Amino acid sequence: MNLQPGKISITGLSPEQMETLLAENQIDKKHASRLLYWVYRRKITSFGEIDDIPKKVIEKLSELFETGITPPYSSMESADGSVKYLFRSAEGKYYESVYIPDGKRKTLCVSVQSGCRMGCHFCATGRYGWHGNLTAYEIISQVTRLPFEITHIVFMGMGEPCDNTDEVIKACNILVAEWGLAKGRSNITISTVGVMPGLSKLLAHTECNITLSLHTPYPEERAAIMPVEKRWPAHALLEMIKTQKQQRKRRFTVAYVMIDGVNDTDRHLEALKELLAGTGIRVNLLPYHSLPGDTLKSASEERMMFFKHFLVTSGTGASIRRSRGNDVYAACGMLAASVAEEESKKNIK
Ligand code: SF4
Repeated sequence: MNLQPGKISITGLSPEQMETLLAENQIDKKHASRLLYWVYRRKITSFGEIDDIPKKVIEKLSELFETGITPPYSSMESADGSVKYLFRSAEGKYYESVYIPDGKRKTLCVSVQSGCRMGCHFCATGRYGWHGNLTAYEIISQVTRLPFEITHIVFMGMGEPCDNTDEVIKACNILVAEWGLAKGRSNITISTVGVMPGLSKLLAHTECNITLSLHTPYPEERAAIMPVEKRWPAHALLEMIKTQKQQRKRRFTVAYVMIDGVNDTDRHLEALKELLAGTGIRVNLLPYHSLPGDTLKSASEERMMFFKHFLVTSGTGASIRRSRGNDVYAACGMLAASVAEEESKKNIK
């Protein structure tokens, strides 16, 4: 459980909101910036750790607020060092984040919703269904609750960022602001299937990198596995991204999960090359995570290397993202779905 009943979490607040709340509670608003510093930068779990705000003020703060940095519901460590954390909100929503250390690079993959309503056929979160949006507080606390520094943040966990755009924009602003976590905007990537109104808002109000989940260059094939294609075709989204590309210095990529015999043929590769030629948009090739009861399997390592080599030599940047944490349900949504299922079984009994 995250919030103590009746208390307001400081995590998730902007300086303006903090000042207003302090003023409403007859506390001098000059303490706002120090409070945000202690919560976002020093990651305190108790106001007792603050040493530059008078004791009397601290006592009052403790009655009204909490830092919002709370432990996860559970965690599982993979043999490869990545750790999957499961959270449970005050209303009982489950959501996950995954910590992926790789040398000096420490990445956290965060969730923006509990479940998802986009219904992509290959995704465990899609099968779990939609259980609610996360607030900026719930998104940011996935980062601040870790006791060590995170260098990169990717919005690739549960949920579709462009289906919870306002809270995602707030969270991005807290991540990059000097008064917030002060992370480099180039180290933050938002991954979307392309809900166009949300994406265009995100492009206007953040400067983070954007990844579009493409998975096939053919609209009819994409529509068969990603219902969003019928409403907002990837081709139209790529056009919008191309226009934006000239305006802001951010990195655009497309994610391409490679499924054996489905989207890893020469025909797909040629069409992918054609689609992205001259756009400067890079391709991130990912292995497929088989889901329980599923007959699909990932393309082979050799095939992925071939795709990468072909794209790079034809002038389109490409890289391969390795699988991490397979032994702890790495595919997004699998841990939350399995815990929620266990809980519902207990409730039925
Ligand atoms: Fe939702 Fe992303 Fe899964 Fe699609 S792939 S169902 S958008 S979480």
